[in-house]
Amino acid sequence: MSGPRNFVVVILDSLRYDSWLQAGPANLAHLGQVERRFSYASWTAPSHYNLLMGLLPHTSPPEVYASEYYKQDFLRYAERLNVPGMEFKSLLPSIFLPTYLRNVLGYETHAMVSMPVLNPHTVINRDFDSFELMPTHNDMAAMLAKLTFSEDRPSFYLLNVGETHYPYALPHEDPSKWPRISGVHGVFKRLDDDREHADHDAPAFFDDVSLRELHGRQIDAVTYLDGVFARLFDLLPSGTWVVVTSDHGELFGEQRYFGHGPISHEKVFEVPFVEGVVP
Ligand SMILES: [Zn+2]
Repeated sequence: MSGPRNFVVVILDSLRYDSWLQAGPANLAHLGQVERRFSYASWTAPSHYNLLMGLLPHTSPPEVYASEYYKQDFLRYAERLNVPGMEFKSLLPSIFLPTYLRNVLGYETHAMVSMPVLNPHTVINRDFDSFELMPTHNDMAAMLAKLTFSEDRPSFYLLNVGETHYPYALPHEDPSKWPRISGVHGVFKRLDDDREHADHDAPAFFDDVSLRELHGRQIDAVTYLDGVFARLFDLLPSGTWVVVTSDHGELFGEQRYFGHGPISHEKVFEVPFVEGVVP
């Protein structure tokens, strides 16, 4: 093929590496061998900003300077985008992938996100032709109907997918059946409405629900999403480069941690990563 190719980055929000392994998604396996990688951040907003700078989850290589790792990592974009010679300095001075893709390479740039902290009013909505917060937080399939590709220009899509985020609910599941952990309602609820109860969260949530069951729900979400990926792969033009990864992991009771965010633990940084040409 000649010229830049379509580039799709799918972020399965909060997905742990071991949840992917336990689900063993067969359709996603056609994309390539899943790798164990590490997020640069422990929660959604900084992690997405980081990856929109072009820095996808890292391999944590020992005895390598950061600058050298970034340099090597950016050289991968030559293959991802089919743009020979792409390197870190190509992104200067903005160091923002959508800016480079749209203004230098002529891409159409689109984002569909599931998490309200990434809504279109936030600073990461820069140099996107379209940027949509989806009506519900957990429906990747609804994004598929909105994908469009032009004959004349390559497209970049960022898809932030929420089925793997707490409460790990599939789109057809009745919200009244979702597991409820007291005090865990997402960042806005906590900041605005739940501050007075915040001190009581830690002892309560271990009693309320089985954390193993919650982890099982995340694994089941991967199994479900694997079917959605089969449909996505059918929709994408041939030659499209696809990255599937997560913005951070999730704690399910290890060292009395639940969730992600203000947590420093290996499992909140460990994420799955796979990329390749659409199968
Ligand atoms: Zn997230």
